[in-house]
Amino acid sequence: MTSVEDIPPDLWEECPRCHQLLYARALEKELWVCPKCGYHFRLNAAQRLQITVDEGSFTPWDADLPLVDPLGFPDYYQKAQKAREKTGLDEGVVTGRGALDGIAVGLGIMDLAFIGGSMGWVVGEKITRLMERCREQALPAVMFCASGGARMQESLIALMQMPKTSGAVGKLGEAGLPYVTVLTDPTYGGVTASYAFLGDVIIAEVGAAMGFAGPRVVEVTNLNLPPHVQTAEFHYEHGMIDILINRKQLQETLQTLLYWFAGRPRQPDGEAGSGNLLGEATTDE
Ligand SMILES: [Zn+2]
Repeated sequence: MTSVEDIPPDLWEECPRCHQLLYARALEKELWVCPKCGYHFRLNAAQRLQITVDEGSFTPWDADLPLVDPLGFPDYYQKAQKAREKTGLDEGVVTGRGALDGIAVGLGIMDLAFIGGSMGWVVGEKITRLMERCREQALPAVMFCASGGARMQESLIALMQMPKTSGAVGKLGEAGLPYVTVLTDPTYGGVTASYAFLGDVIIAEVGAAMGFAGPRVVEVTNLNLPPHVQTAEFHYEHGMIDILINRKQLQETLQTLLYWFAGRPRQPDGEAGSGNLLGEATTDE
């Protein structure tokens, strides 16, 4: 007889909102959206890639940057090393080139499992290089945000990533290339105050928490904020977000936007488009 100990712990997931027990494989088919209450589970970078880009199309960029500890912050280097081992990621953001329905795109995907998806020098540098490569290769950029904000162990150097990434986004715009951001649960701090809210089109997944100061900071300020102020829904109602979306419509919406930016109709089903925004075949580097 099967005992409780024999059941792999990752076979079932409990919905944090409605507490329904969900079979993990069935949940994956639902793109990690609870079929009972619609709660959007937080995704890691690999899951996000899997449900976003054309299969086999993704090539990572800048995965070889070193861990940095510019201020000699106690235990920080060891913490970052452990995060690398735990997540299999080099840092809190994955960047690279992929394709959506055949349209080449530069992608950035943040991962909360790496020190809360916080933004230090490496994260800022990877995002800046992502924008620069998109310019060189005439690619649109799509950035999936999930972050607790700037990385406190890098203090001012982390904060300096805000103008650096914002400047790189600005240069992308000057080159006439589109930039789309997708805000996912949660997006806070210096990330919201820089590249997250600079998209030409800003999309947010339903139910995502977001804002500049996190709830714990807001609590100690004794400000009487309206309820639900730090939600995607509130930001959408107040014009800060262009599209509030269920994850199940996200891939198709991104594809539609990319075709729209390219000024050409979507291809019929089964016929992938090709090349960059100008319809030119491009290769990496
Ligand atoms: Zn649920």
